[in-house]
Amino acid sequence: MMNKNDIVTVTIEDFTRDGEGIGRADGYTLFIKDAVIGDTVRARITRPKKTYAYARVEEILEPSPDRVKAACPEARRCGGCRLQELSYEKQLVFKRKVVADALSRIGKFPVCTDSEERDGAIEVKPVAGMADPFRYRNKAQYPIACVPVRGDGTGEHREMRIEAGFYAGRTHSLIPVRDCLLTREVNASVLDAFLRYMRENSVTAYDEKTGRGCVRHLLIREGFSTGELLVCPVINAESLPHPDRLIRALSAVPGVRSICVNINRKPGNVILGDVTKALFGDPFITDQLGGLSFRISPRSFYQVNPVQTEVLYREAVRAAGLTGKETVFDLYCGIGTISLSMAKHAKEVYGIEIIPDAVRDARENAERNGIRNAHFYTGAAEDLVARGEFERGVPCPRADVVVLDPPRKGCDPVLIRSVLLMAPERIVYVSCDPATLARDLRLFADGEGDVSYRIQLIQPVDMFPETSHVETVCLLTHS
Ligand code: SAH
Repeated sequence: MMNKNDIVTVTIEDFTRDGEGIGRADGYTLFIKDAVIGDTVRARITRPKKTYAYARVEEILEPSPDRVKAACPEARRCGGCRLQELSYEKQLVFKRKVVADALSRIGKFPVCTDSEERDGAIEVKPVAGMADPFRYRNKAQYPIACVPVRGDGTGEHREMRIEAGFYAGRTHSLIPVRDCLLTREVNASVLDAFLRYMRENSVTAYDEKTGRGCVRHLLIREGFSTGELLVCPVINAESLPHPDRLIRALSAVPGVRSICVNINRKPGNVILGDVTKALFGDPFITDQLGGLSFRISPRSFYQVNPVQTEVLYREAVRAAGLTGKETVFDLYCGIGTISLSMAKHAKEVYGIEIIPDAVRDARENAERNGIRNAHFYTGAAEDLVARGEFERGVPCPRADVVVLDPPRKGCDPVLIRSVLLMAPERIVYVSCDPATLARDLRLFADGEGDVSYRIQLIQPVDMFPETSHVETVCLLTHS
């Protein structure tokens, strides 16, 4: 029987899909944060259950040959970079296995991870990684909170200070971080200027427990190719005090082109509210990807790793196998990045997206790139395609190629059914969650009536180095 605070010695044999180490001791399976495959550690049991337990590393007795020193001093407390102590090469091996395991366990597909296809098994290709797996994020959302000054006693009169940072893994306690190594250096200057403005003007930080206070988050977005910065405080108020002083403080940071304020007065974890007001410049920034120019509004989705987005879109365009004659649907299209990347190789492209600001961006992006054969509609993809109309009086044509790029929860089964009924020649599924990808691929493989699909390509792309997330491009053709 294992009890809380027991100390065990254990060798790590595997990872969970979240990147926690798995080891075995006394017939128990142990889940140990911050331990990597190949480590032998002394661990303290934190949460014992019947057959398994969670534990914490007390001491690394023998480090794994794949262990590296975390580049960020806050890596363990922050928890945003679960894999930072694993060599990058091994991170890619791990992610390939995560995709293969999901396809096999959830999708019940025969898979392999070597290049020779065995007995009809589907090969999960090696993960396309980055040359430099840091400083890749073009977007960061920093929680702002009033926290005790570090090193100060715990007495009643401890000094409090407004800080920006990240939440410690699975909690809402803020760890002050100015220079996260996944983000650009310039973010630290933006945060400094913003926090100084807050302190000098007695602007309060939002307190989740009481629902009082003003600033909840600071959103920073950067166009990597243009260097343009958008800064957007998210506030629990109708306006910020002394906006002129905020503009002066922030526009002194090189690159700041746009300052907006987003209003979110609802309790809960959703970061952005529905209303965004421009305080300075245009309420968007621009960026270039794959030779196209895009405008991006604060509420629109835009891939966070532009270097790898080019790799991802290249794979998606190649998988689509376009000859110039095809009608393409880009479902869950965001600001139209995939649609416009495909438009020059296709006859017509139709994008569907649920966020109206993003659809506005998509239409504007078609125009600014002189693309006339891409058309965008607002709505839930599952509703519009099932209804057979993009909007009233605009019937959906039949698509030859359907691109699906849903959020983590995957596609609605109604949409999968509609796509099966349409029976396009090719389906390109771009997924940020291998579990929902596997679930949805199973539905396509089982099919509807005499239409079903087989997997032709599984190409994972590392969009999120140092974290346990992985993106996958998948091509389906008729079986
Ligand atoms: N393909 C785009 C966006 C992918 S992210 C890109 O690469 O940038 C997924 C997008 O789906 C988001 O923009 C989100 O707003 C949108 N979305 C979420 N649910 C949707 C639904 N039911 N129908 C259509 N779009 C949806």
